[in-house]
Amino acid sequence: MIDQAYDRAAELISDADALLVCAGAGMGVDSGLPDFRGTEGFWRAYPPYGRLGLKFEEIADPVHFADDPALAWGFYGHRLGLYRATVPHEGFEILRSWGAHVFTSNVDGQFQKAGFTDVAEVHGSIHHLQCVEPCTDEVWECTFDVEVDPSTMRAVGALPTCPSCGGLARPNILMFGDWGWVPHRSQAQLDALTSWRRSARSLVVIEVGAGTAVPTVRRQAELASAANGALIRINTREPDVRHGRGVSLPVGALEALTALARRTA
Ligand SMILES: [Zn+2]
Repeated sequence: MIDQAYDRAAELISDADALLVCAGAGMGVDSGLPDFRGTEGFWRAYPPYGRLGLKFEEIADPVHFADDPALAWGFYGHRLGLYRATVPHEGFEILRSWGAHVFTSNVDGQFQKAGFTDVAEVHGSIHHLQCVEPCTDEVWECTFDVEVDPSTMRAVGALPTCPSCGGLARPNILMFGDWGWVPHRSQAQLDALTSWRRSARSLVVIEVGAGTAVPTVRRQAELASAANGALIRINTREPDVRHGRGVSLPVGALEALTALARRTA
């Protein structure tokens, strides 16, 4: 049955006028990145937060940048180091070779690292900074190394600052209950994606590793493929597709993309 699904998906990809990848956290799992699904999963990845009883939604609250900068930057500084050190798995190169554009909720910059240029990061990027305040809407590239004590997950030493006011800087990421996020960088990416989408006659969407818990990516995939399009959903946990031209692949990203690459070669 999966072979039929692969054949159909490969045919859609080969015939596609334009390809859009809609990627969630499951995309990075095969590169070795943690997927913080559920509080238990988050605490397995970060035992110090388990000891503190802090859930992902609680540590990803922008209030900590004002209240306790070492705690806030401990979390983001650790992830920054992790994403910088991570090599994107081969599935990224397969998607890139098909000329796909990208919509993602991931803030890890892995698509750019794999050589993509057309990426819309709807929740921002950990590789870019902004003022905590913010005193201006400036967004700049993060070249800062944040040192983190892995036993406490607290930042030690200097933290990045805002070049305009000298106050603390933070990642340009949309956090939980975030009223201070500077959105223009992501908005410009989204605008570029929208005009490209409008120029395409038909669109094949490959959705990868996007769950229903944070529905932004699934919603985008369904909307973009609704009119005159097709949807290929690669998802180990929630693979169901309700779409006239939908294909469900209930396997991991790398496995699915490798199988599709063989069929489209
Ligand atoms: Zn500032």
